[in-house]
Amino acid sequence: MERRFGSTRLVLVQGDITRQAVDAVVNAANGSLLGGGGVDGAIHRAGGPAILQECRELVKRIGRLPPGQAVVTTAGRLPARHVIHTVGPVWRGGDRGEPALLASAYRESLARAEEAGCRTVAVPSISTGAYGYPVDLAAEVALGAVAGRLAAGSPLEEVRFVLFSTGDLAAYETALDLLEVAGGR
Ligand code: ADP
Repeated sequence: MERRFGSTRLVLVQGDITRQAVDAVVNAANGSLLGGGGVDGAIHRAGGPAILQECRELVKRIGRLPPGQAVVTTAGRLPARHVIHTVGPVWRGGDRGEPALLASAYRESLARAEEAGCRTVAVPSISTGAYGYPVDLAAEVALGAVAGRLAAGSPLEEVRFVLFSTGDLAAYETALDLLEVAGGR
């Protein structure tokens, strides 16, 4: 599924984010930046030790990465040029600022990608694995945040949501359909 917001394509695919030949892939990291399971584990396994090395140096400089923020490192051996590490919110019922933090994680990630001169970016479904964010709700927030930023004007050519399961892809497709009713093209 594919839609245009501003001059950027927003694409939904099912797949493995470590296999995407794009300028940057976004990692659903945790604040320690020292690796974990899910997307994070897959990115470090496929990209090799250069990514973790740079994460360690970043943490020495800036400390833990707070939820909603994003930083850039090398992509090591991945078929991408950069990894953008962001931290989503842990789901605690939805009334503890989770939607705003999730939206910020996407917007900050796109901001880092633009600053790094990227044209194409792959993003995962942040917070919906270990962090427990219900995928239907996360899809609405994620797509709303990304589409809003793109509609305001962006040098990015493509933002590709890479969803791991058919269920996740279906949730994002439904949310993108509803978003169109709200004004997307
Ligand atoms: P979080 O800690 O932010 O919840 P996770 O990595 O645990 O992040 O999960 C986020 C989502 O990414 C989940 O839907 C999970 O199924 C999915 N996922 C796991 N591995 C990959 C991968 N290699 N490519 C794309 N998505 C993945």
